Amino acid sequence: MVLTRPKSPDIQALYQGPEAFKHIEALTSFGPRVAGGPAEKAAADYIAGQMENYELIVEIEQFPVTYFEDLGATLEIIDGAALSPNILHFSPSGEFTAEIVNCGLGFPEDCTPDVAGNIALIQRGELLFWQKTQNAAAAGAIAVVIYNSEPGNFMATLTFVTDIPAISVSLENGTLLLDLLEITSVTVHLNVETVISESTSQNIIGTLEGTDPDPSILYLGAHYDSVSVGLGANDDASGVAAMLEAARVLSTKVQQVKTTLKFIAFGAEETGLEGSENYVMKHEAEVRNKGLGMINLDMIAVGETLLIGSMGLAESSLVNYTSDKAAAMDIYWQPFAPEARGDHAPFETVGVPVVFLYQIHDPWYHTAEDTPDKIDIVTLEINGELATTVMYEWA
Ligand SMILES: [Zn+2]
Repeated sequence: MVLTRPKSPDIQALYQGPEAFKHIEALTSFGPRVAGGPAEKAAADYIAGQMENYELIVEIEQFPVTYFEDLGATLEIIDGAALSPNILHFSPSGEFTAEIVNCGLGFPEDCTPDVAGNIALIQRGELLFWQKTQNAAAAGAIAVVIYNSEPGNFMATLTFVTDIPAISVSLENGTLLLDLLEITSVTVHLNVETVISESTSQNIIGTLEGTDPDPSILYLGAHYDSVSVGLGANDDASGVAAMLEAARVLSTKVQQVKTTLKFIAFGAEETGLEGSENYVMKHEAEVRNKGLGMINLDMIAVGETLLIGSMGLAESSLVNYTSDKAAAMDIYWQPFAPEARGDHAPFETVGVPVVFLYQIHDPWYHTAEDTPDKIDIVTLEINGELATTVMYEWA
């Protein structure tokens, strides 16, 4: 592979950070883009519309997801304090007045028979939240309260819908309940309100066809859904915005590219890579036989340092090429070996060379503060230029 071709400065001149930023403003204007919800759907329509403007061939592929909405929870000790619970993602609703029973770490042997008809208090750690909750349900508990193993409360997902409601509280709240249980029985009023429904999410695929008679395919991906607590400006409207700007720039170069370019906005990443897994499952022969490489952009516009890496399952040529290009562009970057927690994972698992671009550290990750004003437009532009240049040269 030739390391540098003279055409890349042209790409950098065409690529505009402020244009990409407009997409972040548009995507965040719909509210939190929770998988299967109306804001995610509105964002999907926006992305498809932009791709059509750039004259890409646009396909929308739907797949089933479980939509979940957190409407809030309360937990009050009768004749005592009101605690501050968080709802675990995929918890069903429920309202109860019942006793709290200590169930240790939530192993089956930790739950005594008196938990039947009552609420299990469980410490965080060792078992999955889903497993703790289902163990308590099997012992007859009507709800679980999982307390943190370090100060403060936490947010987490059960990954799957559980049989009984599950909330989390801080270590301080958990300790308060345990101290009271040493002295007396503790009755609480618990109310958990959530919405769970079967819905659909979708991947939006924009294609620029290569000039080769039987072209290979290079993928550029980013996820457009977000967590429920925030607008996901950096996570991952930034990646989608950079991908759309790359599509705009490369649509002007279509006569010069031998390889087919596929720009994919994945739905339902936050709920467990559902969009990218669905794509690779549905198009496994295409991905395996024609996939030349996959560039994943997730959280690329907040923080000081760009991380460039892959899981190391496929050959590392695309990582090496991107790293060399980043150095040539005077980008401050570090190598890393990401886990299988990103949309690159399903592609790399079937042997496609991938490169994952991820900027650290984002202090507003998965919070209500992940808003467009936190975006660094210069970083958004530089990282987007890197991805677009690599895509153009590699193709
Ligand atoms: Zn993300």
